[in-house]
Amino acid sequence: MGDGLQITFWGTRGSMAAPFSDRMSYGGNTSCMSAEWEEQMAVFDGGTGLMALGKRLGEEANLGTRRRDQPIHIFIGHLHLDHIVGIPLFPCLFWNGARLHFYGPGEEKGAFRKKLRTMMGHPYWPVSIDQVPARITWHDTMDGDVWELPRGARVRVMKSSHPDGCVLFRLEREGQSVVYGLDCELGGSGTDFWNRYREFAKNCSLLVFDSPYGEEEYPSYRGFGHSYWQQGIRMAGECRAGRLVISHHDWGRTDGELRAMEQEAVSFGKSRNVDTVFAREGACLFLESFKRDGDGGEAG
Ligand SMILES: [Zn+2]
Ligand SMILES: [Zn+2]
Repeated sequence: MGDGLQITFWGTRGSMAAPFSDRMSYGGNTSCMSAEWEEQMAVFDGGTGLMALGKRLGEEANLGTRRRDQPIHIFIGHLHLDHIVGIPLFPCLFWNGARLHFYGPGEEKGAFRKKLRTMMGHPYWPVSIDQVPARITWHDTMDGDVWELPRGARVRVMKSSHPDGCVLFRLEREGQSVVYGLDCELGGSGTDFWNRYREFAKNCSLLVFDSPYGEEEYPSYRGFGHSYWQQGIRMAGECRAGRLVISHHDWGRTDGELRAMEQEAVSFGKSRNVDTVFAREGACLFLESFKRDGDGGEAG
């Protein structure tokens, strides 16, 4: 592993998990992505993919290659079930001495913890989030916040456009950056929100874009809080993202259907000089490899 940010996708589905044999190439788990640097880790979303990440961390702890008390910073964009349903079975919650920082949307102190407790507590779950052995520090976050993380990393927060509210995250470190943009309905090009998003994602190394469908399907889903992949390519081009990853795949889409969409997106991306790929569960990306030719500094 190099010195740059290492990104891993643990869950790529939106709305609901898709544990079907004809969907395993892109994966069946719901949203979760990790970023690692110098033995530090930030996690974005706690969908069912979080359980797979926790399994890996447990294996590393058993091998002695990871300390169980190494802090993990977990950022939750919003509380729709597909983004939090992996939390109750996240193995690190049950480690003595584990230190977890949870960041989630909250307009007032304690709001995020209170909401999460509703999902992970009586009568929906037998073990309350307040009973686990891990030491949890709770952070309420909202539009405009900047969180400093160890070894020179920071996470910026921007309000999304999504039913029930949601926030987007931008992790930056040493000139590399990843924008985690699930779940978000961009709306029309040139609107205030489009322009804000473009500023937030400007020159990012990697843009993870929310897009369960294509432009032709979008009219049936207007107002549902999601975008279409053609918007991702236009936005990535406008904000000069180093690479675009499309995620939050519709749970009902088979591998064959996603592959066909991805091929279309890749060729449309090429026509606009946007390096495009669809997220696959287990895929690992090193941001240092995504520098644009001729770009320096922040664009890496
Ligand atoms: Zn979602
Ligand atoms: Zn949502």
